[in-house]
Amino acid sequence: RLEIRNITRRFGGRAVVDDVSLTVMPGQVTCLLGPSGCGKSTTLRIIAGVDMQDQGEIYIDGKLICDTVFRIPPERREVGLMFQDFALFPHLSVAENVAFGLNGPKEKKRARVQELLARVELARFIDDYPHELSGGEQQRVALARALAPRPRIMLMDEPFSGLDNRLRDEIRDETLSVLKDEGTAVLLVTHEPDEAMRMADEIALMRAGRIVQQGAPYNLYNAPIDRAAAAFFSDIN
Ligand code: ATP
Ligand code: MG
Repeated sequence: RLEIRNITRRFGGRAVVDDVSLTVMPGQVTCLLGPSGCGKSTTLRIIAGVDMQDQGEIYIDGKLICDTVFRIPPERREVGLMFQDFALFPHLSVAENVAFGLNGPKEKKRARVQELLARVELARFIDDYPHELSGGEQQRVALARALAPRPRIMLMDEPFSGLDNRLRDEIRDETLSVLKDEGTAVLLVTHEPDEAMRMADEIALMRAGRIVQQGAPYNLYNAPIDRAAAAFFSDIN
């Protein structure tokens, strides 16, 4: 379980993330949804540990990960990352990419790699290199790589935006089922309402650094908090 409490991040005096609180439960997908520039990626970077908040605390499974004085380094947070531009290592094979964050005996690592590649239906590509794979296949390898060390929390920042429409639906569904199987708590950032409606158990609607509405997708769709929120959801069919 991921808990963010009253996180604020300022750049040059402007609160880009403004008193954001959020809880993400295991096996659930929470979407941080909002227009470009509202502070979504900044929030994710703080949780990942590559940026630091000016106020607030973050807990994972009840354990303090960081506040304004204490911080556990990124590599020890048990957080998986999947970003659009978080590419595979081109000089490593598919198997080596997936095994990258794993420690321990070789056979154990190999077994985990095989298990994950089977789950994303890429077992036959195990010894191939990234350039031999399509965009969608690479994205599924990236998912396997992010899941390999069994992160408690998966942070995803527009991970599907580089894919064409048909492929995107397929990869979204597959990604969801793999994440649910693993029981990972997922925080997914997107600026597309239809992606949030499709994938989220819970949506946090963000605007100018603040969460303005939060709830189940159908609640936000049926009872948007104001005109701007209604307009945002209006082009979904
Ligand atoms: P998008 O959907 O376009 O990715 P976003 O919601 O992820 O947008 P952020 O990247 O979090 O938005 O940025 C929020 C605001 O903070 C933007 O106005 C951005 O210019 C500003 N910002 C982000 N990082 C920095 C930085 N290191 N220094 C100064 N300003 C920053
Ligand atoms: Mg962003």
